[in-house]
Amino acid sequence: MRKYFCPETPPPSERSIIFEIGTRQKRAKSIRPVFLPFSGCPMHCVYCAQDRQTGTNLSGGLSPLLAETEKAMLALPPCAEETPRELAFYGGTFTALPAEERRACLSMLDRLREAGRITHARCSTRPDALSPAIFGELNAHGIDLIELGIQSFDTAALSASRRGYDGATALRACRMVLEAGFELGIQLLPGMPGSSPDVFIKDAEQALALKPSCLRFYPCLVPAGTVLARWLEEGRYSPWSLEETVSTLGRALAMAWQEKTPVIRLSVAPEPAFDAAVLAGPRHPALGALIQAEALIVSVQEAIKTLGLPPQALLLPRSCQGFMYGEHGMLKARWAALGLTPERIFFTGGEKAELRA
Ligand code: SF4
Repeated sequence: MRKYFCPETPPPSERSIIFEIGTRQKRAKSIRPVFLPFSGCPMHCVYCAQDRQTGTNLSGGLSPLLAETEKAMLALPPCAEETPRELAFYGGTFTALPAEERRACLSMLDRLREAGRITHARCSTRPDALSPAIFGELNAHGIDLIELGIQSFDTAALSASRRGYDGATALRACRMVLEAGFELGIQLLPGMPGSSPDVFIKDAEQALALKPSCLRFYPCLVPAGTVLARWLEEGRYSPWSLEETVSTLGRALAMAWQEKTPVIRLSVAPEPAFDAAVLAGPRHPALGALIQAEALIVSVQEAIKTLGLPPQALLLPRSCQGFMYGEHGMLKARWAALGLTPERIFFTGGEKAELRA
């Protein structure tokens, strides 16, 4: 039996602090993704291997993919109030698709909504592919959240990564999405060429200040066949180590928790063809859990500082049990160094953390 679980929580203390440790995105829980790798993209970005990342090949054109998606969606039971469902156009640059292809996607969305199979919809795009006309079109077809592949707000990093826009454009695009009445999602790429842990923390601060509905962090990897793979071979690029990634993203995630902003991705989703093609970079099967564990320690350190007293008890949601001690319990010593040995840690049915002195 694991000794660090104690069913009895200690009595409330007047000297305590309650803090956030994660927020869920309050949208449809069921998301049906439609991947459109490279579609509409003005170029292949130096690190991008979206076809392998998404496991989708569009060599047969868009029509078969849309027909298959529509058929599968119509076979699902209609949505009810308690069972919302979202269609998400991911990958590529949705707002720069050829007009006919974008219309085909949006018409399918209309039919699925009319048939009651969809309640929400989102698309992802680049910050330099927006316009009032595009906003009008997306709005007319019920897209309610736009995710921007910002990657960074730092002009030097964007330039080193050859993204083709600067930090001011990235910031302006986020504001345009919000001012046009859409929910905003921001994707960041820690470890991209030209970035550093300090740059990424500033990126996360800037993103959080915009109050987006969600964030995604995609630690930069080096897939074979990309420009980044060549730069790696030539010694022009070094990926972040796993340790650097975990500690930096852990800090950023703790910041997002404090702001109650959901971070809905902490690593690229597993995909066998993509995993086989990764040459270097912070890839780990439990990367998300390692980052969450780091964020939890950072959050508790902050809470101890604020409390100004040695902690006597830490109450955590049960969901933390699976990750707080890290891989093979490697974080136990760090918890103990904070004065939080297993007998002082209690798991509850709540959603927030509480530190008691
Ligand atoms: S714009 Fe986005 S999807 Fe297109 S190549 Fe660049 S990173 Fe990949």
